[in-house]
Amino acid sequence: MAIRLHFWGAAQTVTGSSHHIECAGQNVLLDCGLFQGRRQQATEINSHLALTPEQLAASGLNAVVLSHAHIDHSGVLPLLTRQGYRGPIYTTPATIDLCVPMLKDSAHIQESDAEFMGRRHGRRKAIGVPPGPLPVAPLYTQEDAAEVNRHFHPVKLHEPQLLAGSRRDAGFTMTSFNAGHMLGSSCVLLDAVENGQTTRLLFSGDVGRKNLPIIRDPDPAPAADYLIMESTYGDRLHAPVGDVKAKLAAIVKRVTARGGHIIVPSFAVERTQQLVLLLHELIDAKQIPEMPIFVDSPLALAVTEVFEKHTEEWDEEPAAFVAKGEDPFGWKRLTYTHTVQESKALNDLRMPFIVLSASGMCEAGRILHHLKNGIEDPRNLVLIAGYQAENTLGRKLVDKLPEVNIFGEPMRVRAEVDSIDSLSGHADQQELLDWMAPAAPTLKKVFLVHGEPAAQQALKAKIEARYKLEVLCPKRGDRFEVG
Ligand SMILES: [Zn+2]
Repeated sequence: MAIRLHFWGAAQTVTGSSHHIECAGQNVLLDCGLFQGRRQQATEINSHLALTPEQLAASGLNAVVLSHAHIDHSGVLPLLTRQGYRGPIYTTPATIDLCVPMLKDSAHIQESDAEFMGRRHGRRKAIGVPPGPLPVAPLYTQEDAAEVNRHFHPVKLHEPQLLAGSRRDAGFTMTSFNAGHMLGSSCVLLDAVENGQTTRLLFSGDVGRKNLPIIRDPDPAPAADYLIMESTYGDRLHAPVGDVKAKLAAIVKRVTARGGHIIVPSFAVERTQQLVLLLHELIDAKQIPEMPIFVDSPLALAVTEVFEKHTEEWDEEPAAFVAKGEDPFGWKRLTYTHTVQESKALNDLRMPFIVLSASGMCEAGRILHHLKNGIEDPRNLVLIAGYQAENTLGRKLVDKLPEVNIFGEPMRVRAEVDSIDSLSGHADQQELLDWMAPAAPTLKKVFLVHGEPAAQQALKAKIEARYKLEVLCPKRGDRFEVG
């Protein structure tokens, strides 16, 4: 039998996760994620990540399986449905509820971006400056995003779900396992059957870590014949999760002592809820002073409601707050800013405060206004709390560039920039090696995806040495036949 793997995205790069799997004439797409990076390249790549209507019809795509709600895994689904895909999208109930506000928000960003480009083009043309590339239509609209919601099909962890064909002769069955990476995240085991023979392909999605706040630890990897595994931090070791509270407390005390603000570019999903929970615990334990904390992101607000609803995903921390009669996500203690006016009013506050705002890589959203207003003041601190992809503003701050562009204006980076990476939802090198250990004895080959080349090469060497397995790092568009 033969299974064909076609790597569309997150191949030698971190974003745009999408892999097409074919067996016995049945077709499954694992993830349909948005590529994030330089504008022109991103537009080019993203419009090719989903099949054209003709390709879609020819592909005979039976099912889409979504590992988790992050936009770099789910963000091109609206384009897929716009091109005519009407089949099911299988994923966990929490992922479905997260995707509703997240895809809407992503569509809103696409729409605003296209509008901005259009205005800039017009302005430049009017004053005789070369206007640059022609304005583009948004990749997809909020209407396209809403269409996706009609195709979600919830799956329960550990329960096999037939995706295409039949279980016995020819077809695909999936079983999902908790990935411990974000609320609702899963790893997917695909049983591909042809002529009664089964080949098991394990897709890691994004592998999480033990002891992360809020969510439960990852399930051990199930036995499989082939593994497609992420490699985001394939060359890194994180500080233990337990260190994060002490570091966060030290930062808050240092900045409040000098009368500054803490500006946290924070992913609206997971990182914001984790930081809110940790700040809440620190204030309760009187380890940091009471001070205003603002969550300035309408998306974070919508997502926090999803976190509250899906108690089946919680570990003991949020449950402990509930047992004390408190709310873990701090509705009473924090201020969730709803409107742009409320957001702008923060600029006039003359006392120390913390503001968490999206986007997490500082590419768009209200965080840009907070950075513009605060980055040139040495009393302030920009707290980087998540992964920053190449060429993003967040990455430039981590790399300590003395000057950055915000809304097209050069600005001096005088604020302190500090990072906490121990909240990372991604397993580090050692954690990836340990996670795959239960699957390793039966594996025939490993495909590394979702990582930059240096991280992939480091992880590949470790897997080869520890498990004596063949490891491949496919490029975008590469095809392989296995089984
Ligand atoms: Zn992810």
